[in-house]
Formats: sequence, structure tokens, C-alpha cells
Amino acid sequence: MKILIKFCIFFSIFINANTLEYALIKKGIEDNNTLLLIGGIQGDEPGGFLAASIVATDYNITKGSVWVVPNLNFPSIIERSRGTKGDMNRKFAHIDKNDPDYKAVTSIKKLISDPKVALILNLHDGSGFYNDTYINKDINPQKWGSTCIIDQEILSGSTYPDLMSMATRVKDHINKNLLNQSHFYHVKNTHTAKGDIEMLKSLTYYAVTQNKSAFANEASKNLNAEQRTYYHLLAIEEYMRAMGIEFNKPFELNVQNVKKAIEKEIQLSLFDGMFNLNLLDTRANLTYIPLKKGEISYTSSNPLVAVIKENNTYKIQYGNRYVTRLNPQYFEYGKKLDAINVIADGVKIVAKSGDKISVKNSFNIEKINKIRANIIGYNSKNIDESGENVSLKNMINRFSIDKNGKNFRVEFYEISTNKYVGMILVEFE
Ligand SMILES: [Zn+2]
Repeated sequence: MKILIKFCIFFSIFINANTLEYALIKKGIEDNNTLLLIGGIQGDEPGGFLAASIVATDYNITKGSVWVVPNLNFPSIIERSRGTKGDMNRKFAHIDKNDPDYKAVTSIKKLISDPKVALILNLHDGSGFYNDTYINKDINPQKWGSTCIIDQEILSGSTYPDLMSMATRVKDHINKNLLNQSHFYHVKNTHTAKGDIEMLKSLTYYAVTQNKSAFANEASKNLNAEQRTYYHLLAIEEYMRAMGIEFNKPFELNVQNVKKAIEKEIQLSLFDGMFNLNLLDTRANLTYIPLKKGEISYTSSNPLVAVIKENNTYKIQYGNRYVTRLNPQYFEYGKKLDAINVIADGVKIVAKSGDKISVKNSFNIEKINKIRANIIGYNSKNIDESGENVSLKNMINRFSIDKNGKNFRVEFYEISTNKYVGMILVEFE
């Protein structure tokens, strides 16, 4: 059977030079009981930013309002660093105008104080496991992992003034769903206003000064990414329930499903569908990518994807993870193709540039007037490779975009000018 998968693009993230701005994804129907969910304030805490990203891409908010900023400190996420420009979570009491984090910090402050926002949840991965008494070097009162953090017990005048009860409710919910008793959660009250010099400069304390109910959730850095993400999602869901926000999601919450959600296929579209990639088991290097000169523009189905220019290549990064590197061959671009006829397993499909087509046995690109097709990894005697029946056994494995040798590019060029006019992806099932 043939399935024509259209790329659906949810996010519009444009990069120029070194500015990587955070994404804001608004879900549900806006009201004054909005949850502001923040991940990635420190770039080396993937549990937090992956959980926020999964809420952004996979959760359906059926009642209420959720705003998600999954990648607050995006440059640091890309660099897998706590903070490439210092610790962003110490810049909320004061930030210098020349600080590279100035724009992110001032704009998230504006979101925090937005009258629609009722509760702020900042997601962190902290070291070890917090415990009231010293057990060993990983489990003791100095640790941050496995905690629901509040700055003070009560914040009168805020929407949810009893911070302690709210955090306790969430902690209890997590503890009913532990993977292992050693991950047991605690509420940690930092008593910030009583003089915790460091925490006075933090995001949640800034929210408190704006009279906003604010919490941090800490997963343990001693756990793997999917386990941390699982605990964050447990917390996020319980805060939503406590706020009366209703939601559904396409999977049952367990570690296996969270891992699948983290590793599922991501779509990346360059120049508005002129060159699309499905990122899944992608080869570490992709060559002869037809790009046009000048600043690259792209969109992705995942807010943690970034395309970064490095020397003469483009590195593609998904959060902390390196995905692939595009080695360009530069072309002038012509008008993008919007009707590409393909006979897939004997059935005609009309695709447009950027679409992905799945076939079981073979495909045949119908001849387009004045255009030649170049099936990357297919050897033909003809320069124009349209009109030929192509099956997997005709393809040279190493030209696939994926390591499994199943996904191939078909590119189109104007014969008279050699301008590049688009591509499709063909996946052999
Ligand atoms: Zn942190």
C-alpha cells in the first residue's frame, strides 16, 4: 500500500547567524488561568526541555490554556552547556543590557508577568536525589534531583497562593508512579525571600515578585533522558489537573512511550519545502544538498531542531543531539514544483515539492515538461531519470538519507537553466 505523507509544519523558527531564539507555543484556548511551562533555561538539562517539547508537539489541550517555551536558552541547548554565556537562572534580578541573554531574559519576564499567566512551572534536571538527611554522596540535603521546588510556603494574592499544598499534591502524584523507590520525590522549600542570595536571582523568584504562583520541578541527572522526561511529564500533568486544565495525548505515560516520543521522526523543511528531510536514523553526513546561497531559512515539526552554519556546512541539531551535517552544492532556485506525478506501486499520486511518499515495491516519476528528475543513488543511462521503474534493488544503499538504506531523494532541475526546482522523498517500506 502507498501512503502519501504530507509534511505538516507546526513551527516557524528562522535562524540568522548566531541568534537562536526560543519558541513560544500556545496551546488550548487562551484564558487567564494559563500555565506557562518553561524548559531549557540551562542547556545541559535535557529532561526538562524534552518534556516541554513533548507537551508542545504531542499533547492536545482540550480545556484551558498552556503556553510552552521548551528551549529558553536555545544556544546553550545546542552547545550542551549549562550556559554558554553564564547561568541564565541567575540573571532575573538584574541583567546587563549587553548580556547575550538579555533578549531571552527580558522577553520571558514579560511572559511571566502577562495577566493571563496564572502558574509558572520551570523544568530542571538536578544532581543526585534530595533527602532531608545525609545518606550518601548522591542522596543528601545538598542535592536537587527528585524535588518539587517552591520559594516559600504561601504567596497571598496569587492565583494559587498555597504553594506548599500544590507542590505536595504533585510530589504525591509522582511518588505513586515511581520507577524505583530510590527516586522518591520531596518538596524542597528554598525560603528564598529569607535571604537565599543565589535563588533571589532566579526565574521562579522573579515570578514570585510578580505575584505569580511559581514552581520548579527537578528530575535527577542520575537518570537517563527518558526517565527524567517521564518524571517531568508526571509533574506537568498533575499541575494541569490541579489548575483544571484538561488534555489528552497519543500515548500512555510510561518510560518506553516517552523514549518513542523523544526519538520519533522529525520533519525539517528548508526554504519552504524546496528541500525537506525526515530526521530518523539519519546518516551523519549528507552530501550534495541543493541549497541556494545566502541565509538559510527553515521550519521543523520539533521546536528543538536547529540548523547551524559551520564553515561551509550546516549542522543539524536536535536539542543536545547531533543529527547530521548538510554539505551543500549551490544552485539557483527556480519556481517550486507543486505537481509531481508519481506512479507508486502502480497507483498514481500527485505530490508537491517536499512531500514524502512511501512505496512497497517500486515507483516511477512521470515526465515533467522541461524538467529532469535526478534520483539520488540510482544509476541510469539517461540524464533525466523520469519514466523509469525504480525499486529498492536498483538503489545504491550509501546514497540513502537514513542509515537503514530506505529513504531516498528525488530532485528536479530545469533542463535549460539547471535551476533547482524541488524534490520529494521516497521511502521503501
Ligand atoms: Zn537547572
